[in-house]
Amino acid sequence: MTASTLAGSCPECETDLTVPPIVEGETLSCPECLLTLRVEDIQDGRLDLRMIEVQLRDWGQ
Ligand SMILES: [Zn+2]
Repeated sequence: MTASTLAGSCPECETDLTVPPIVEGETLSCPECLLTLRVEDIQDGRLDLRMIEVQLRDWGQ
């Protein structure tokens, strides 16, 4: 069976997420709670997601 998608769950709201193949370090947004999640690890098509702080725009001005 070819894994054409990856699956994971949001650490915040536990929504099941199915996403196109991505790599570790990429980010995605949870459609439910709109948190930004980063792919920490991928094992057997299963994503280990961690919420990250959305950085405020700081242009140093
Ligand atoms: Zn969520």
